[in-house]
Amino acid sequence: MNVSQLARSIAESPTLKLNEQARLLKEKGEAVIHLGAGEPKNKAPISAILSAAAKLNAADIKYTPTDGIPSLKKAIIRYTEENYDRLVGPENVIVSAGAKQSVYNILYTVINPQDEVIILAPYWVSYPEMVKMVYGVPVIVTPEDGSFYPSMEDVLKAVSTYTRAIIVNSPNNPSGVMYSDDFIAQIVEFCEQKGIYLIMDDIYHKLVFDGKVAPSCYKYTKKDIESTHIIVVNGVSKLYGMTGFRIGWAIASRRLVEIMTNVQSQITSCTSVLLQAAAEGALTGLQSVVESLRLTLENNRNIMMQELQSFNGIRVTKPDGTYYCLPDFRAYSNNSVELSQFLLKKALVVTVPGKEFGMEGHLRLSYAGSAKDITEGIARIKWALDPNSPNEIYIGDRKLVRDWL
Ligand code: PMP
Repeated sequence: MNVSQLARSIAESPTLKLNEQARLLKEKGEAVIHLGAGEPKNKAPISAILSAAAKLNAADIKYTPTDGIPSLKKAIIRYTEENYDRLVGPENVIVSAGAKQSVYNILYTVINPQDEVIILAPYWVSYPEMVKMVYGVPVIVTPEDGSFYPSMEDVLKAVSTYTRAIIVNSPNNPSGVMYSDDFIAQIVEFCEQKGIYLIMDDIYHKLVFDGKVAPSCYKYTKKDIESTHIIVVNGVSKLYGMTGFRIGWAIASRRLVEIMTNVQSQITSCTSVLLQAAAEGALTGLQSVVESLRLTLENNRNIMMQELQSFNGIRVTKPDGTYYCLPDFRAYSNNSVELSQFLLKKALVVTVPGKEFGMEGHLRLSYAGSAKDITEGIARIKWALDPNSPNEIYIGDRKLVRDWL
């Protein structure tokens, strides 16, 4: 079969692949625990549902402007003002089919073939593939000190004359850590000075724990929205647990938004008016739903940390936010793909191999599910790996005996 070289070189999304594997096992009646998921179990906010339902009832479901319906953009402008202390105009906002498409649109808009994009490891799986999809070159920066916090020196070593953009995702998927205010300040200053685009993927910025607050990148620039090189990405997927609604957005200069709009107009025309209405409903409705989700996640994070603490050999950095942590499993295996498959087969627990995030030897564990899933999931992993744990376990209604350690 003739397929393009580029398409052939693009890897399947490992997280979506695992979701599918888990779904098939569940369909067969297997007692799978999904610690791989990037979505919580909450119901969508009622304000989102009512808003979409009103649109549906009106039976007037047509194209919208490519960059989004004005009322949703207005809600996004207010969100930006409230959370970033930055007043932007409607011409600085473009709504896309999830933050994923926002990031892709941005890369398509700013990257020439062979331009380099700096990505900080551990990184969200899609960044390197998306950079390749626009014929750019991903340049991965791995913190030299073995932590999840890159230093400005690490970043500077990776900068070349081809560097066109840097992607920063903080709090970070998959590690859950939030970079320091100082690091954000330095990277903003550097990008503004050098004219390098700084893509701030902020989709977890409200899901932060322990009383911490994610810094606003705009705080560290003196440039106005038309001259800044900062582009901020956000969306409803993580903020409200509305992953299936597929609404995200980017905030950038008028010129960039104009070009991103041209690009999007040739690909998807616009996102669905129904889903935009839902996103508007969520943004203009009661925001206590975000706090409630955040509290659930913080509580789940605490349970996950407690369960992992009793697991000899595993080292974990306590997440500051997001849905995830990225424990170091090298005491058990250096091959995270094999380890993840082993845990799925033996213990029916879904984890995501750290290799996919540029951190071999680690597994990403999600605490977005229920407290029971976390406790039971970690108990199963312990049973499968730790010779000091009891060698019998119940998985569903089956009693299993460990015979491989
Ligand atoms: N950025 C990061 C860091 C993510 O983790 C995700 C989703 N897992 C996205 C972007 C995409 O989100 P959306 O559902 O809005 O496309």
